Amino acid sequence: MNMYILLMGPPGAGKGTQAAKLVKEYGIPHISTGDMFRAAVKEGTELGKKAKACMDAGQLVPDEITIGIVRERLQKPDCANGFILDGFPRTVEQADALDGILKELSIHLTRAVDISVPSSALIERAVGRRVCKKCGAAYHIRFNPSKVDGVCDECGGETYQRADDSEETMKNRLSVYDAQTKPLISHYQKAGLYSEIDGSQEMSKVFADITSCLGK
Ligand code: ADP
Ligand code: AMP
Repeated sequence: MNMYILLMGPPGAGKGTQAAKLVKEYGIPHISTGDMFRAAVKEGTELGKKAKACMDAGQLVPDEITIGIVRERLQKPDCANGFILDGFPRTVEQADALDGILKELSIHLTRAVDISVPSSALIERAVGRRVCKKCGAAYHIRFNPSKVDGVCDECGGETYQRADDSEETMKNRLSVYDAQTKPLISHYQKAGLYSEIDGSQEMSKVFADITSCLGK
């Protein structure tokens, strides 16, 4: 059966970590708007220039830009048999737009999985996060260190700390989440698609809970 999964949750909750495991399990693409914006910043495109200032400040990239890139991405053939959408939607306007895009594509979401972690734990998760420059794999200096410090286990690439993973920017990102993204919980509850997962457990347990709520 095709799987169309939304991964919701605050910054640092473990969406990217769980998405990587879901890709291995189900062989469907991982679509992260944050990764798409970071790639555009690296390439120095117009999109990257527009996104960078918002990302550095811990604010959201404007809806019309974000909705546009997702609309384009979901039309690619590799999405036909499923996807894992990570970090989108983040506003009610984005959620409404996504409903419209999926309707046009005749896609029914399988589940909106909310990885829930108390905000007290999120700053430590983000500040200790290290990401591979080459393949994007995420590590944590304390909870999930790479075997060799600074070197990715998956591809040997160099790991780095994201500029927006400072304590100060994380505080902004968490308040943006509370104000703009939390209201989406009721959007997906009303649609009968919402499942909350306890994301404060160890990674393998979080994964087991996600696959069981997907019915697999
Ligand atoms: P998100 O994509 O939601 O922002 P990540 O998947 O990048 O979050 O995870 C944020 C940080 O927390 C990373 O450093 C990751 O290694 C770590 N992490 C993810 N899941 C867990 C977990 N269940 N327990 C402890 N640390 C975790
Ligand atoms: P993430 O990698 O999901 O933590 O996202 C990093 C940053 O990219 C966010 O703080 C935003 O500035 C931007 N971003 C990612 N996804 C979205 C989205 N759906 N809407 C607006 N901005 C986004």
